[in-house]
Amino acid sequence: MALKITDQCINCDVCEPECPNGAIYQGIEIYEIDPSKCTECVGHFDTPQCREVCPVDCIPLDELHVETPEQLFAKFLKLTEGKTSDAGLVDKKAA
Ligand code: SF4
Ligand code: SF4
Repeated sequence: MALKITDQCINCDVCEPECPNGAIYQGIEIYEIDPSKCTECVGHFDTPQCREVCPVDCIPLDELHVETPEQLFAKFLKLTEGKTSDAGLVDKKAA
């Protein structure tokens, strides 16, 4: 399932550039996560990168967006369609 940012966010800005899917954006008051783009970092990294860097640990799972690992991987494939040189993928044409 996607992750979400709670109102404990202190707008420190460190998570946004870490997201491989561009799912994190500055909302009206705090940073937010677009659930249609968050894959829990499946396909790119072993762990959610935003959680790794958040100093206040305010990025829990979003219970409203329940997804299986298979669904998350399918989302990753859709998001990276045509971007074969993206992180975690091998560009077979260049090999
Ligand atoms: S878990 Fe990964 S894909 Fe989801 S918002 Fe965090 S960094 Fe982005
Ligand atoms: S790392 Fe945590 S505190 Fe910093 S902007 Fe992201 S969600 Fe907010």
